[in-house]
Amino acid sequence: MKITAVHVDTLELAMEEPFVIASSALSTGPCDLVRVETDEGVVGIGEACPAYEFTGDTLWSVQDVIAEYLAPAVVGRDPFDIEAIHRCWERELFMVGNPAARAGLEMALWDLKGKALGRPLYDLVGGRSRTALQEVVALGWDEPAVLATKVGGMRAEGVRIFKVKVGDAPERDEQRVAAVREAAGPEALITVDANQGWWDAKTAIRAIRLLEQHGIEFVEQPVRMDDLGAARFVRGHVDVAIALDESVRGPREALACVKTGACDMFVVKLMKTGGILNALKVNAIAEAAGITVMMGNMGESSIGLSAHFHLNLALANAVHCDADLPGRPGGLMHDIGRGLRQEVGDGISWIDVPDAPGLGIEIVEEHVERQRVARRW
Ligand code: MG
Repeated sequence: MKITAVHVDTLELAMEEPFVIASSALSTGPCDLVRVETDEGVVGIGEACPAYEFTGDTLWSVQDVIAEYLAPAVVGRDPFDIEAIHRCWERELFMVGNPAARAGLEMALWDLKGKALGRPLYDLVGGRSRTALQEVVALGWDEPAVLATKVGGMRAEGVRIFKVKVGDAPERDEQRVAAVREAAGPEALITVDANQGWWDAKTAIRAIRLLEQHGIEFVEQPVRMDDLGAARFVRGHVDVAIALDESVRGPREALACVKTGACDMFVVKLMKTGGILNALKVNAIAEAAGITVMMGNMGESSIGLSAHFHLNLALANAVHCDADLPGRPGGLMHDIGRGLRQEVGDGISWIDVPDAPGLGIEIVEEHVERQRVARRW
């Protein structure tokens, strides 16, 4: 099988309401939809969800980098040769950065491979380690009363895991977490994510000590991404586990975190690692070091979310998951993918990862058409 063409659609996905965190305020979801065609008629789909504040990628940089560099290097190649394609991007193109562009195109290769073999993605990366993922809802910087109303509604629908965005003034963070705990009930699992917002170790420690009183499972990215010494200092001065997200962009950064003793957990996202192959390498480093992994996401549509969920299902070391559904209140209004299913079992909301070949996601073309955007200048 040979790759004959690569197409990228640039989209802005409408959101029900802005999602505000320490490092950004999103009112639409940037999305590069990638399609890879082959001479045998099989088409693979992938999604890049560029998050500028994480990796420097933008909606248009993804399109440009794919069109000018990544796609010409794959056309004519066998889509199964994913390791060799990565090696070409690194050693022949000397590609620096642009992980979301690489991830979007590489995701389409995995989808193609699964479709060609007739197997779901999780079977290509280790097979099932667990049967389903418990739904997680991420909550932005709303007023505490608003958070309480949202959480109360979702609790009634079976959501038992909430991720609260913090990294604001520590007292404000505490008010939000207290409101979520009150509305979610004592049995709910609550995690917090500062997205670098506390910046330095002393502020982070003061904030975490306030939040620990409300029963939190772990804290993500308490300090700025490039200060592993600060993360290590925080880790040594609080009881709760420390997860690093922005700091862990690929295998090299993962190794640096291990050497520093900076954290207990890695948050792995395909848009940071530059794709699935590197995510597997990050997980291998983590597992060898006794560090657990949570597959996160950047707020992708069902296409990109599905890739993360397949990995979360397959990797035994991925003991936590960040399984958001795209249509949750505050989420995407017109999801461009179809195939993820939510099911309530024993009063708990679960996400069923599709077992159709590849990502198991079908594109909703009318939602692609209505959200396509032209370059502004
Ligand atoms: Mg995070």
